[in-house]
Amino acid sequence: MKLIKDNLTEIRERISATAQKCGRDPQTITLLAVSKTKPVSALEEAINAGQLCFGENYVQEGVEKIEYFAENDHLAWHFIGPLQSNKSRPVAEHFDWCHTVDRLKIAQRLSDQRPADKAPLNVLIQINISDENSKSGITLTELPALAEQVSTLPNICLRGLMAIPAPESDPARQCAVFRQMETAFHELQALYPQIDTLSMGMTDDMDAAITCGSTMVRIGTAIFGARNYSVS
Ligand SMILES: *Cc1c(COP(=O)(O)O)cnc(C)c1O
Repeated sequence: MKLIKDNLTEIRERISATAQKCGRDPQTITLLAVSKTKPVSALEEAINAGQLCFGENYVQEGVEKIEYFAENDHLAWHFIGPLQSNKSRPVAEHFDWCHTVDRLKIAQRLSDQRPADKAPLNVLIQINISDENSKSGITLTELPALAEQVSTLPNICLRGLMAIPAPESDPARQCAVFRQMETAFHELQALYPQIDTLSMGMTDDMDAAITCGSTMVRIGTAIFGARNYSVS
């Protein structure tokens, strides 16, 4: 099995190469290590290799890992899974980011529940850009109204957009979808100066996402290997 450290080196090199190919500064792209279902020993290996940002999909599992690594205040924790309102409190209390805001009620709860001694929770609005089977995310038509409402809430900070496109193996078609996100992102940036994050790109579509302006790629499999859901 390949070492996590070596996988991270490879991914960082791939991000740099792809960014340079399209004239982007690699420093403007954050690598989020998606560690769902992986044990703390795997995260430890990644941390020892210099990885600081982690993405988790399940509230309970994520909170346990955040508590395990509580002494290390260099780490940033991103909640990237579907969020039900009744699970918003632990996300507001423990995470630094939430990528999956797709309705006002969730945003309001996150703002109300964010502890006063913490910086505002960074949030992204999730767009359902191409996956007709997914119930998560709003359409681009709904974005202006939700962004306006979310941006007025006191204890969360709207930083940008996130999308999980339907699986697609053709890079040109991956790009066609990502370009729609890029356009919406730039339109939002023109309205809200604090918008700086476009979260898109996973193991199988990372290169297209970077070509189309992603500022944060969410990579699991290429760093930690395949996930085994039956034992988690
Ligand atoms: C699991 C997951 C990822 C990582 O996917 P890989 O294909 O393993 O890189 C990224 N984003 C979200 C929202 C996920 O749930």
